[in-house]
Amino acid sequence: MTGKPRKQEQEEATTDIAEVAPGVLRTMLPVDLPGLGHVNCYIMEDERGVAVVDPGLPGPDSWNALVDRLNRAGYKIGDVHTAIITHSHFDHFGGAERLREESGADILTHESFAPLWDSEEAAETHDAEDGASEEEILERIEETFRRPTPWGTRRTPPRREQIQRFRRMGNFNARWFRTPTPTVTVVDSQMIRLARREWVALHTPGHTGDHLCLYDPAHGVVFSGDHVLPTITPHIAGRSDTRSDKRSDTQDSLAEFFDSLQRMNTLGSTTVALPAHGHPFTDIGARADDICMHHHERLDVLRQAGSRLGRATVEDYMRVLFSERAWGDMAASETFAHLVHLNVIGEAHRDITPDGLVTFELEPAQPDQTDRANRANQADREMS
Ligand SMILES: [Zn+2]
Repeated sequence: MTGKPRKQEQEEATTDIAEVAPGVLRTMLPVDLPGLGHVNCYIMEDERGVAVVDPGLPGPDSWNALVDRLNRAGYKIGDVHTAIITHSHFDHFGGAERLREESGADILTHESFAPLWDSEEAAETHDAEDGASEEEILERIEETFRRPTPWGTRRTPPRREQIQRFRRMGNFNARWFRTPTPTVTVVDSQMIRLARREWVALHTPGHTGDHLCLYDPAHGVVFSGDHVLPTITPHIAGRSDTRSDKRSDTQDSLAEFFDSLQRMNTLGSTTVALPAHGHPFTDIGARADDICMHHHERLDVLRQAGSRLGRATVEDYMRVLFSERAWGDMAASETFAHLVHLNVIGEAHRDITPDGLVTFELEPAQPDQTDRANRANQADREMS
């Protein structure tokens, strides 16, 4: 193989069970998504049975792997009393609803837990396939993906072959695809008892608005979910992935992400971070700082492009920020998040075209733009 070395997050799931922190077992469940080869499902024992963190994708493949990993660790599905979901992405919550049905497990999330979209409706559409031709079914599935974006476009459904592959895997017509309804929700700083000890809930919005980390200060362990990953930077959605797209109008999710990243510096450099993808790591504050820096550099790229682009759409800016093979809804969403941030801090005007496309026009680039101290001083300059 040539090219870039494979990132940790891309590694294929193995059947290994490893104790990665006192009383915390790491297992890997298969994921076949762009840039991801597995999701970590952590198992923690206590007097009530076990709790799992992020029980994987919906569908039978992931479920069978979950059953296998629990068995290898010496447990059964019926032992699971709680499924903790770090955030509302389906590679994390997919197994939760079935766990609740088969073991009566609680589903624990942050109180703001919000699905990507209401897949209840989608699942019902897919379940009601009687008499529909394959073509009609595929069209219905595509339609459920064509939701409006907060920047005025419509989302592009996945490619047909991808939809067909998911259908063969049982991910689209299975009832397990539905977004779980939490049975226990927590707020920031709330204490939770798991693995015979206390954990602090850390609400860490950014990657999603509902992202939850759990921190055990006594043993120096944190479940970092997708908030801080070891070798890839998590996608930042311009709050386009919540139920109410309208929230994105005022939601500066990049600023929230910066705050959530900053907070990791309070956890101490010896704390063991257990991410949702990739290997355990330490010095989470330094890793969080790197991710912050990455986004500041991305903001600079937009600032530099601003004078050339003038008043331009999110897609125009996306083509500057991302290489062509990354263009699409995800890239546009991340671009939108950065542009909203520039708008909120007074560096960009926001407008809308007659046909409903959101545009941004950036303040003229300053010669000393790369100097952060100077930029901070410009914050109160007049907006024209
Ligand atoms: Zn993930």
